[in-house]
Amino acid sequence: MSNHHQGKSNEDRRFATKLIHFGKEIDEATGASSVPIYQASTFHHFDLDNPPAHDYSRSGNPTREALEHYIAVLEGGTNGFAFASGMAAISTAFLLLSAGDHVIVTEDVYGGTYRLLTTILTRMNIESTFVDMTDFEQVKAALKPNTKAVFLETPSNPTLKIADIAEISGWAKDRGLLTMLDNTFMTPYHQRPIELGIDIVIHSATKFLSGHSDVLAGLVVTADETLGRRVKQLQNGLGTVLSAQESWLLMRGMKTLQVRMEASEASAAKLAEWLSKHPGVEKVYYPGLADHPRREIHEKQSRGCGAVVSFDVGSGERARRLLGRVKLPLVAVSLGAVESILSYPAMMSHASMPREVRLARGITDGLVRYSVGLEDAADLIRDLDQALDN
Ligand SMILES: *Cc1c(COP(=O)(O)O)cnc(C)c1O
Repeated sequence: MSNHHQGKSNEDRRFATKLIHFGKEIDEATGASSVPIYQASTFHHFDLDNPPAHDYSRSGNPTREALEHYIAVLEGGTNGFAFASGMAAISTAFLLLSAGDHVIVTEDVYGGTYRLLTTILTRMNIESTFVDMTDFEQVKAALKPNTKAVFLETPSNPTLKIADIAEISGWAKDRGLLTMLDNTFMTPYHQRPIELGIDIVIHSATKFLSGHSDVLAGLVVTADETLGRRVKQLQNGLGTVLSAQESWLLMRGMKTLQVRMEASEASAAKLAEWLSKHPGVEKVYYPGLADHPRREIHEKQSRGCGAVVSFDVGSGERARRLLGRVKLPLVAVSLGAVESILSYPAMMSHASMPREVRLARGITDGLVRYSVGLEDAADLIRDLDQALDN
């Protein structure tokens, strides 16, 4: 069989090429141009003494495995895992911890992660301390005798704060702490945390990786085989796996990740510049803006600024008027899709966070988050212009 798609020089290939030629893109059995959807829960044992490579789809499904290989190649890790949602991936990763353990977490972490940590894992006696990871002193001060892990999200959501990945992972490694990073906003196209010393990279693949607002999925990549075996045991034991259909759909979306990211990001930069001059906008959060306080750190560890721009229109009233008047973006929870999505953290993604906590984290009643899609930037700006109060 030809091995043209598994050439030796895989390491040297650039990201755009890896997105198309990740090593399992052609069906070995038939040469089909797309990975077959193995819609089967179980696999026949032709010979009892030589069990088949796959025996049950929770433990291993060839379609899911192609996706798992794909994300491991893109992130530069040893093992990839696909889950039913981003939260299934995050929950499974947190179960690497045990009762009595403590974890240090980015304070403005995704709302669902905050809820998992504060209402579910607390019942398992896993405790967490939320810190502003832009301040390394706070990270260090949060260390306790039972600290076992650090969970980072950078840029954070929705105020796009930047943590210094290498600084924190180096410190954590010296103390034997496990490091996990939610890379949903940047994707491996822009940011590859394993290269910066992170042990476990996590994605809500529902967002940029799938890119079309039509699939829920989560992905995990480990930096080494030992961790890979531990995550495999959890994935199989908890049964938090992604189905074959969804695995296929996600791979289909991922192939265009780079071109989608490039186009959305170019528009996001224009939108951010335009918004920062608009009289009806009090503050714009985007790591590419000259006044972003941690811009240099972001540029050191990421190749781009992504397609999410958050901005504060000053009050809940104004935010509601804006959401009611926009004509192009979907007004919804979520991000990272072909269509622009405008969301309102205070009433959507961060509604479960107590108001005081939310305000302390800069998630004010006037803050909205714009995920820029593939529409023409001039149209998006015109639409925002008619929707914003002056
Ligand atoms: C959406 C999101 C999640 C949760 O993912 P689901 O696929 O919705 O379960 C986790 N982290 C970040 C940063 C997200 O945006």
